[in-house]
Amino acid sequence: MNTLFSHVTVVCMNAANTILEDAYVLVKGKEIAYVGPIRPQERADREVNGTGKVLMPGFVDAHTHLTMSLMRGYAGGHDLQTWLNDYIFPVEAKLDSRAVKAGTALALAEAISCGITSVSDMYYFCDDIIGEVVKSGISANIARGVTVFTEDFDPNTYQACVETRALAEQWHNYNDGQIRIDACVHGEYTSNPKLWTWMADFARKRGLQMHVHLSETKGEQEACIARHGMTPAAVFERYGLWDTPAIAAHCVWSTREDWEIFKRHGVTVVHNPASNMKLASGAAPVAEMLRSGVKVALGTDGMSSNDNHSMFEEMKLASLLSKVTNLNPMSLSDEAVLKMATASGAQAQGRHAGVVEVGAAADLILIDFTSPNLTPCHDVEANLIYAAHAGNVCMNMARGNIIYENGEYLTLDIEQIRREVARYAIPKLFR
Ligand SMILES: [Zn+2]
Repeated sequence: MNTLFSHVTVVCMNAANTILEDAYVLVKGKEIAYVGPIRPQERADREVNGTGKVLMPGFVDAHTHLTMSLMRGYAGGHDLQTWLNDYIFPVEAKLDSRAVKAGTALALAEAISCGITSVSDMYYFCDDIIGEVVKSGISANIARGVTVFTEDFDPNTYQACVETRALAEQWHNYNDGQIRIDACVHGEYTSNPKLWTWMADFARKRGLQMHVHLSETKGEQEACIARHGMTPAAVFERYGLWDTPAIAAHCVWSTREDWEIFKRHGVTVVHNPASNMKLASGAAPVAEMLRSGVKVALGTDGMSSNDNHSMFEEMKLASLLSKVTNLNPMSLSDEAVLKMATASGAQAQGRHAGVVEVGAAADLILIDFTSPNLTPCHDVEANLIYAAHAGNVCMNMARGNIIYENGEYLTLDIEQIRREVARYAIPKLFR
């Protein structure tokens, strides 16, 4: 199936930050085959007239927990530790496979309508999550969030490690890379050196990337320094967790020395401004990180601490939070914010996506710039960050397939998802 987008404004997110007007983009199979100002010779199976619309890379939510959509709006008004221990963990203890599928499908429906074409997810029940992702059509890096609270365990037989190994064997690079498996340590404060040694070794041997939570709260940072005499980033470096490319979610309290570690090892920081603000964790010094050469991507951290899946909101919050904490309206450029939400996320996932260029994955979204909230348009990038919302997404194309168009889902049965959440998942978890 070939699709031609015609007469469209293209925000390429390439190195030159090209924006093309009245341009053409041809998609052949799963990839972008042509981008330019002249109509390509080749005939397409379908032509989408993009007059009045902006075509850009789909968003990459580089850190999320899809299933936690079931806990949307639950337990507000608490810090991370209270929220986790007193509210989230007890609800999660009631999860089963069917509830996980329902919550994941709900999250995917929301994500797709918000223009997300790829996610990096950390959770458990990963086979169920993968099943829903595959059906939806978007791409995902999946990490089994491994926690361990005792030294008395054998990683070779410990359930979460066994699952990690099985996931890598069964799913890594499934369907031409739609699914990638990442190795994972949930966090320094929820695990120990025995696990770190095993996981680092496993990732190296299997060639997997790493996904962790890092330096999210001040308390976590201080407790780690008290325990190990160094920061979580330094501890993880010592145990080899950065030996393969990694995603480190949050890094709110990371230090300048930590940033040198990130740069040495190709660690991408994932900034989650909504979650960090809601849980009162703090404001990650993203502008300084970028200036010092650290790679930064953007994430939602899931709908239980956010409480939606809109990357438009994340972009706006990232920009505003940086401006207000630095008292500098120029602290983050619009290009830098858009890159965090697209190209940098894709790069962190190990994918050639997040950019409109020949050979990249055809993960593309169309945004209706005739909407009142996007009129007038003095600056496309500024409108995308400060004025646009998820309701302006009129098409989502993942891996060359249109999966959402004008409010209609083409891969998901939204009524069935609603029913399953209301009749099964919510009563199961909250009653
Ligand atoms: Zn998280």
